[in-house]
Amino acid sequence: MNIKSKTYKVGDVGVTHISESILDGFTPASLLPDWNSLTGRQKLALSGSMEAKTALMSTHTWLVKTRKHTILVDTAAGNDKERPFTPYFDHLNLSYLEKLSNAGIKPKDVDYVLMTHLHVDHVGWNTQLSNGEWVPTFPNAKYVFSKEEYKYYKDPANHNDRNKTSIIIQKDSILPIIEAGLAEMIYIDGSEFIDGLSFKPTPGHSINHASIALSSRGENALFSGDIFHTPIQVLYPELNSIFDAFADQARSSRLWGVEYALKQNAIVFSSHFPESSAGLVVRKGECFEWQYI
Ligand SMILES: [Zn+2]
Repeated sequence: MNIKSKTYKVGDVGVTHISESILDGFTPASLLPDWNSLTGRQKLALSGSMEAKTALMSTHTWLVKTRKHTILVDTAAGNDKERPFTPYFDHLNLSYLEKLSNAGIKPKDVDYVLMTHLHVDHVGWNTQLSNGEWVPTFPNAKYVFSKEEYKYYKDPANHNDRNKTSIIIQKDSILPIIEAGLAEMIYIDGSEFIDGLSFKPTPGHSINHASIALSSRGENALFSGDIFHTPIQVLYPELNSIFDAFADQARSSRLWGVEYALKQNAIVFSSHFPESSAGLVVRKGECFEWQYI
């Protein structure tokens, strides 16, 4: 699927979608374990772009250009990575860097890579294969992520079945960054990190997941990370996905995201919604609705 990228303006910051892939193997029932608890009427309320039969999921990066810096939010799944437990990310060969180049960005131009969390589809392009070794794709960037999340996946006590892919990715996508001296591990405390960007604590999908808020000249946006996987969850924030590790926290963080977007009139730059992946949360009667923009 060919997705035409457009650049959104948030104050004086430009935000552009850099597509990697579209995953078409999910349905609402396979993605959302409680899907069948919805009534027929609730399912009927999902109309238009919120297809009730398929749950297409995109992997992508958000390119953020502030007045001072070139920033990437999350780095999708990456090429050439061995992913035995997630076949749809195994040994990919996709033209992500060409798409970045088409948006006017060369790897050396990137100043910061901000990660919402340390999962396979958010850290892949941190590194690329060069002469059999994993090297940082963005050699001049600071790679910024949660210290707590890093420690969690490092601790053998958490090396269980659920986390097996998150353990594998450490070796090829996180460690080479640390060894190159490019990692900046932070505490997720909601404070501004740089250029109006703040890591907001939205735990649940992962142990120390963050959504990244952007404010510029009175305008707001939210890089929501994986508090949502499909627009269906904007309408029904109580529905967790199969990928959410801590169920109650995931629900609370999703509801926080919906309310934040509504209150701040923030553009939501999602991590996995198809189409433009960007939109607004609007209130419709007692409910919320997702509108692509
Ligand atoms: Zn994800």
